Amino acid sequence: MVILNKYNEADILLDEFIKYKMKDYKNLRNFDYGVENPLKVVSGLSPFISKGIIKEKKILKEIYKSNNPCEKYIQEVFWRVYWKGWLEQNENVWEDYKRQLKIEQIKITEDKNYDLYKKAINGNTGIKPFDSWIIQLKSTGYLHNHARMWFASIWIHYFSLHWTLGANLFYENLLDADIASNILSWRWVAGIQTKGKKYIASVENINKYSLNNLKKFSLPTIKNIEINDNIEHSSSRNFEKYTNVELKKSSAILILENNLNLDFIKKYKDDIKYYIFLNFKSNDISNSSYKLSFHRCCEKDFIDICKKKKISISTFIINIQEKEFLEFLKKNKIKNIYSEYINIGYERDYIKKIKPILNKNSIYLYEILDSFYASAWRYCNKGYFNFKRNFKKITL
Ligand SMILES: Cc1cc2nc3c(=O)[nH]c(=O)nc-3n(C[C@H](O)[C@H](O)[C@H](O)COP(=O)(O)OP(=O)(O)OC[C@H]3O[C@@H](n4cnc5c(N)ncnc54)[C@H](O)[C@@H]3O)c2cc1C
Repeated sequence: MVILNKYNEADILLDEFIKYKMKDYKNLRNFDYGVENPLKVVSGLSPFISKGIIKEKKILKEIYKSNNPCEKYIQEVFWRVYWKGWLEQNENVWEDYKRQLKIEQIKITEDKNYDLYKKAINGNTGIKPFDSWIIQLKSTGYLHNHARMWFASIWIHYFSLHWTLGANLFYENLLDADIASNILSWRWVAGIQTKGKKYIASVENINKYSLNNLKKFSLPTIKNIEINDNIEHSSSRNFEKYTNVELKKSSAILILENNLNLDFIKKYKDDIKYYIFLNFKSNDISNSSYKLSFHRCCEKDFIDICKKKKISISTFIINIQEKEFLEFLKKNKIKNIYSEYINIGYERDYIKKIKPILNKNSIYLYEILDSFYASAWRYCNKGYFNFKRNFKKITL
């Protein structure tokens, strides 16, 4: 009997998707079957991808290998790769998001819209579908892509609430919370990611694609809000240097909680003596208990599997046990630490803070990027359709 852990759970989801759902994905993927059957047509793989349990590269390989690869599904997986690559080259967008969010979190408490904001986050707006989405989001950590678009659109264009507050609400509740996909999708709905193109939800569209009993509702009048984005976008970066890293002696591998990639560990198993898992408790975000318990499950499975493979992991909560972490490195004479490339987000911010402390102690952190991402991200500094034209040049 196979004991289910998050790794074989992800493999089973992918396998079932290919066998049973892929043939209908193109035609039915926009239908939201609601909380009763959220994964009727879609794969449900995003929480596992966001935790690094299954990689986009593996999914794409399996899809291409299958009998009838669904082009639409491939494109969706590539959307995620694209958002990541785009954000990596536009770090200012991440910095600006955090700055604006802090401002809006204070501003909203004194705003005339505060009452509506409270109603929106508690599912008391009286707009039936909207209230049902927030309940589904908080109780299951999942919303269908279309529901996410409708939700964000109503939040921004009908309620006139700031998009960063909505993005943060999603980030704290979604099991698949991912900085790039989340922030950039919210910016896209707001009309700032693709200039001049806002996503406006309509009663007709919601009625057509939500096959539950949400039929009788109306939306308030659209507020015509122009959101300015004066952020200077960065120039394109070359990621090749992260793909050819040679491991030196006295090394450790570092694993972060949003990238529990077992294959990375296996690859370097023979060269590495120390494995360090860094957990962190952010003061900036309050993750829902549902999301946290999913995360803890994933981490437990990761550590248990490593144990079975005789890989012993030392764990530190980085922002609380910084001293202990440093002591551990010094005691074991670890000079070089290797981790898989750390994407823009709260984890990267922490690592940036501790890097100078490590360096002061002659300890160096090197990041290693899979050549798939390096080759894909080359085409992410322009629009998605330019990226799509280059799919064939991306090495799987
Ligand atoms: C406002 C908003 C916020 C979002 N926030 C997140 C987030 O925090 N984390 C996250 O993983 N996705 C986010 N998405 C993208 C998308 O909604 C989810 O990836 C998708 O719904 C996950 O369900 P699934 O795995 O069943 O998708 P499937 O339809 O089975 O798609 C397969 C995979 O393709 C990728 N994908 C599908 N649609 C998109 C998309 N529109 N953009 C980027 N990647 C996509 C995902 O990795 C997904 O797992 C957001 C979308 C919107 C509109």
